[in-house]
Amino acid sequence: MPNVTELYGSLVFNDHVMQERLPRATYKLLAQTIKEGQPLNLEVANVVAHAMKEWAIELGATHYTHWFQPLTGITSEKHDSFINPSEDGRVLLSFSGKELIQGEPDASSFPSGGVRSTFEARGYTAWDPTSYAFIKDGVLCIPTAFASYTGEALDKKTPLLRSMNAISREAKRVLALFGKTVMQVSTTVGPEQEYFLIKEEDYAERLDLILTGRTLFGSAPCKGQELEEHYFGAIRPTVARFMDELDEELWKLGIPAKTKHNEVAPAQHELAPVFLTTNAAIDGNLLTMELMRKLASHHGLVCLQHEKPFEGINGSGKHNNWSISADGSNLLDPGSTPFENLQFLVFLTAVIKAVDEYQGLLRMSVASAGNDHRLGANEAPPAIISIFLGDELEAVVRAIVDSTEYTFTGDVRMDLGVPVLPTFIKDNTDRNRTSPFAFTGNKFEFRMPGSEINLSDANTVLNTIVAKALADFADAVEGASDFAKTAQDYMKQVLTDHQRIIFNGDGYGAEWQEEAEKRGLLNLKSTPEALSQYIEPANIELFEKYGVLSKVEAESRYEVKLEHYSKKVNIEGLVTARMAHARFLPAIIEYSSVVADSIAAKKSVSSKLDTSAEEALLEKLTGGINAITANIEILEAAIKEAVATEGALANATAYREKVIPAMEALRAAVDEQEIVVGHDYWPVPTYNHMLFYT
Ligand code: ADP
Ligand code: MG
Repeated sequence: MPNVTELYGSLVFNDHVMQERLPRATYKLLAQTIKEGQPLNLEVANVVAHAMKEWAIELGATHYTHWFQPLTGITSEKHDSFINPSEDGRVLLSFSGKELIQGEPDASSFPSGGVRSTFEARGYTAWDPTSYAFIKDGVLCIPTAFASYTGEALDKKTPLLRSMNAISREAKRVLALFGKTVMQVSTTVGPEQEYFLIKEEDYAERLDLILTGRTLFGSAPCKGQELEEHYFGAIRPTVARFMDELDEELWKLGIPAKTKHNEVAPAQHELAPVFLTTNAAIDGNLLTMELMRKLASHHGLVCLQHEKPFEGINGSGKHNNWSISADGSNLLDPGSTPFENLQFLVFLTAVIKAVDEYQGLLRMSVASAGNDHRLGANEAPPAIISIFLGDELEAVVRAIVDSTEYTFTGDVRMDLGVPVLPTFIKDNTDRNRTSPFAFTGNKFEFRMPGSEINLSDANTVLNTIVAKALADFADAVEGASDFAKTAQDYMKQVLTDHQRIIFNGDGYGAEWQEEAEKRGLLNLKSTPEALSQYIEPANIELFEKYGVLSKVEAESRYEVKLEHYSKKVNIEGLVTARMAHARFLPAIIEYSSVVADSIAAKKSVSSKLDTSAEEALLEKLTGGINAITANIEILEAAIKEAVATEGALANATAYREKVIPAMEALRAAVDEQEIVVGHDYWPVPTYNHMLFYT
């Protein structure tokens, strides 16, 4: 058993280490930068860098890196050693304030969506002091933002930090109306990470898993999740050992891994950390994902983080638990005193307004080729955004809209005429698992993000749209002579206008699709459709107004995402065709010739032998060979057509409309054969085999 308290954060240059190792004055200045966003001067940076280097070297580090999140969504790092050769042939180990604050990686190969051409490849990374530096594999990692030489964001973190600023500013304005002055408002996130673990030897046999992260073929296993025995079930010993090692490594990095359990699908698991400030939570999630992939190999396993590794089996999401915190107190906690209730209702109303007004942007923020397989499938939230409030809170909203009295057992009316909220029992609000955006007691849980996604986009949007709704509130009531009355009238109006987004029913049913359409809610089913939201004029205006993304940045991100989608589907198409051609056809042909030989052999012994069953089988196999061959041709033609389509949107749409259906048809033809062909002839591990192992 490790000593967890000693282990925790042992590889992190956290506040505790800073206090211990920095001169008092330096620590104070750095703390100001971290807490209040004051710029850091070079002198202070030099002192911090020196202390950081000494600390890192004591822990065995030889290199440092600016750790950043380019638009690919994953993290990037380039290692530089601390060495500084001296004239006498020895080296000094050095690390300057300038090296800490700013880096200049040659950025020409990162996607920029046309913001930066390769001839002006310079990009620079800038230290994000609000996320602690840490040591990974002997390298001091400094969390940074990544921007072009002309200042355009080239990463996922910069807009996120800008959005955190925006919501902080607007929330402070609102709190001021309640007579509160706070130092710091930040959003908090607790990401629940789902993933699959399968055996390395199975993975190695499947080109689809290796190149695309998901199985492009495979008929349903004989047993799925219908017995509901996997969810919260006893954890396989191999998996338990993996989870233990993962916990330890995460704790060393100061990532508060808290809950681990088996998920609904066979071979599916989940890890949830304690929530942190959004940027730190996202950095932590990215590190968690990286460690999961790396540590799985220590146990003969592979960690699949794709949203839909197995068709017909639950996919993996990453629930984004989100709230707003002011100097450590949760603004989405209903609380128990009337005054706090009004404040809570104002923030709640802002979220409802934001989500309804910008449902398209939220949907866009989670769009990816992988997530398309999940949203709308029967275990994930639908592609339509709606809010689940729970019975009690919905009744409160109804009472405000209808100007009726909210009755609740033990009900007390407050003098402002705003009904008192019951103290929520968390379970009361958390029953609906089908809602994409659910209030869960003292936070919202955004359930649409996929397991593989970098949560920065979703939180950038969430922070920005709520900042806007808070600003709208402040604009409406600032200077009002009767604050409470004005606030209430405003809330009534806003909730009336936006109540269509509230839906407490079953989000999976077909009736909801119809009902949502009647309500005028968006239903953006695929990534190319959803991405168009990026460049809607109203959305660009919003991003610009709150200083989160410029028009150029938004447009470039749109391009990058469309291209990424097309590239992903292109790879999948190529792998589908290749596997069908090179693995499945030869296997089916081989097996069919065994059957044909058997028929011929029997016939040559005696014409009286009835070979009709084998002949029927042979017919099926031959039919399959022909169908697969024909479908390979269709797929290859579809890919060609898509490749030749000009323009990022048309390109992505061609992949969506031509290539994906062709892949599906080819898959169906192959999967049909899987259940006909003899087990020993089938060339890849099946779902039965991969999902159920010991
Ligand atoms: P579930 O029932 O969905 O599995 P849990 O309660 O186990 O939910 O965990 C949900 C996640 O929400 C955890 O990561 C937790 O830290 C996080 N969380 C709790 N409170 C907040 C908050 N105020 N802001 C953000 N995340 C929060
Ligand atoms: Mg969960």
